[in-house]
Amino acid sequence: MLNMQGLSKVFQVEHVQTHALRRLDLHVREGEFVAVTGPSGSGKSTFLNIAGLLEDSTSGSYVLDGQDVSRLGDRERSRIRNEKIGFIFQGFNLIPDLTLYDNVDVPLRYRGLSPRDRKERISGVLERVGLGSRAHHYPGALSGGQQQRAAIARALAGTPRLLLADEPTGNLDTEMAHGVMELLQEINTAGATIIIVTHDEEIAGRVARNVHIVDGHLSDLVRPVDALAPA
Ligand code: ADP
Ligand code: MG
Repeated sequence: MLNMQGLSKVFQVEHVQTHALRRLDLHVREGEFVAVTGPSGSGKSTFLNIAGLLEDSTSGSYVLDGQDVSRLGDRERSRIRNEKIGFIFQGFNLIPDLTLYDNVDVPLRYRGLSPRDRKERISGVLERVGLGSRAHHYPGALSGGQQQRAAIARALAGTPRLLLADEPTGNLDTEMAHGVMELLQEINTAGATIIIVTHDEEIAGRVARNVHIVDGHLSDLVRPVDALAPA
């Protein structure tokens, strides 16, 4: 699904260069659920933004779903993002003066779908995340957990093959965090490839594959329980 080789990202602000990613390699197969952990400033968000085509790398190659996307223009990147990728942010990023229904509709408006098809999709994804009865509420009237579910519904509305989430449970209490993780697990079981970034070891421990990022490098993490498990 996703194959990154030797990816580097250098930010240049005035005369200061920051090497956020240093020749990072990662291969994620279709249908995997991967949690990326690592210390603050290690490059997790930079990695995810590049994976989600929100940012370009400085060098290296990135093949997404069989297509080399390392050096595309903005237009083409937006098109692929809209078609294949759903993105979930720590701060939900819902539009406060739109209802949940209209928030979910935002990415669909660029899709050229019929109004009827859009309506079906919006109702369907809101049902799926348990917010069917809240479609006409505004984000401010909902709990953090519900807002993140709405953001997941918005990400799912375009039926993405790849779902990316940057600290999706970072603003939630434990119970809401577990609810969101269960929802992501269901979505993964239904076929989507998912990559989440988290600094929460407990959250990462719920996911089949953990990779660790330090100083812009990635490595697969073998948890002690995995090492002890019989082959
Ligand atoms: P993490 O998500 O693991 O905390 P980031 O990917 O946000 O790490 O940041 C990695 C490094 O890149 C940090 O040193 C950060 O300050 C730097 N960085 C991130 N984004 C920018 C930017 N837009 N401009 C300059 N430096 C940046
Ligand atoms: Mg980050």
